[in-house]
Amino acid sequence: MTSVPHISSESAITISDEVARLAASAEVISAIEWFRDQESEFARWQLELARIPAPPFGEIARADWLAERFRALGLLKVHKDGVGNVLGSNPGRSSAVVCVSAHLDTVFPASTPLNIRQQGRKLSGPGISDNASGITSLLAIAAAFENFKLPHMASLLFIGNVGEEGEGDLRGMRYIFSDPRWKDSIQASVVLDGAGTDTIVSEALGSRRFEVTVRGPGGHSWSDFGTSNPIVVIGRAIHLFSQTRVSTSPKTTFNVGVIRGGTSVNSIPESATMRVDLRSSSPSEIERLELELRRALEQALQEEETRTAPSRNSNRRPELNSEMVVIGDRPGGELASDARILRIARAVDAHIGNDAHIQRASTDANIPISMGREAIAVGAGGSGGGAHTLQEWFDTTGRELALERILLILMCLAGDAK
Ligand SMILES: [Zn+2]
Repeated sequence: MTSVPHISSESAITISDEVARLAASAEVISAIEWFRDQESEFARWQLELARIPAPPFGEIARADWLAERFRALGLLKVHKDGVGNVLGSNPGRSSAVVCVSAHLDTVFPASTPLNIRQQGRKLSGPGISDNASGITSLLAIAAAFENFKLPHMASLLFIGNVGEEGEGDLRGMRYIFSDPRWKDSIQASVVLDGAGTDTIVSEALGSRRFEVTVRGPGGHSWSDFGTSNPIVVIGRAIHLFSQTRVSTSPKTTFNVGVIRGGTSVNSIPESATMRVDLRSSSPSEIERLELELRRALEQALQEEETRTAPSRNSNRRPELNSEMVVIGDRPGGELASDARILRIARAVDAHIGNDAHIQRASTDANIPISMGREAIAVGAGGSGGGAHTLQEWFDTTGRELALERILLILMCLAGDAK
């Protein structure tokens, strides 16, 4: 009998075989049944969690809630780290770590009325999907590994992290991946963010955000007429910058999202501010947009100085000054198309009959992906809409498919300890 040559590399076929073998195991079948039976409990967790405010930089109460749940489920070494991330571990036999995380924070300020409610399978209210659904799935997965003693060689690190949204600027994930304890041991990361099962985010969208401030002497609208006006400068800069051409491929966008300035209708303002968001799948396009923004600001300042110059002494110093402060800088990048985590996610989707496409987005996965590490972001199941609005909703129908998907991806990533 001739021997079959040993396949040394982990080919697509062996990954799908592995997925099929895991999915057919008695423990996994029981876990998936349990997911279905537990849906009303999952919805309760989600509602309870969404009722706890978690504005950017104010995630403590939600973190405490999650830490308590982690302990109740039986995770070990449950603790909060230096920036407020909540970590809990399910140790494996090897020193490798597979990380699964969901962000705790919402975009809503602390004063937002959180009218969280349920009508049948539909849950509504700010943050109910993004990211109460992610945290709920994180808990469901942690519970399944504990309750059904699912095998895993690598340790599983469960994280509810702070600072994903807006000015949080991925600080929770940045902290994890700068911690010597984790940055070298985490082999792969799965980020749970928002609803659905139809995407795999493996391309990290980069962005850079600025707060632009223009300051002047200010004055009385009547008696100091002619003094340089920071609001006019900001308005002019927006007008100039908004004419910047952007490419559709690589897709590049900009937004002026906030403007502020002035004190009263009869005062020349002493300052004016705008916040600008630049995004592109290409880092060089972000550089180019930044340059255009600086040019627009420079030109707007010059035009305002020229406009007001006749009323002033010619040898006077310019009245205006400006600064552009970086308030967000999310590194971009993308996984190699043959990355192991992608092959696993695709094999799991093929096995469970889920149709998902690769997506480029800005998520917590930006940090590991930009460091050349394997990471993806996937949805937490069900369906949702109205993200970042007070009308946000989440429908729990089909959540169990996402849980099965996430479970199999993690088991495959962590390896079988049997
Ligand atoms: Zn999110």
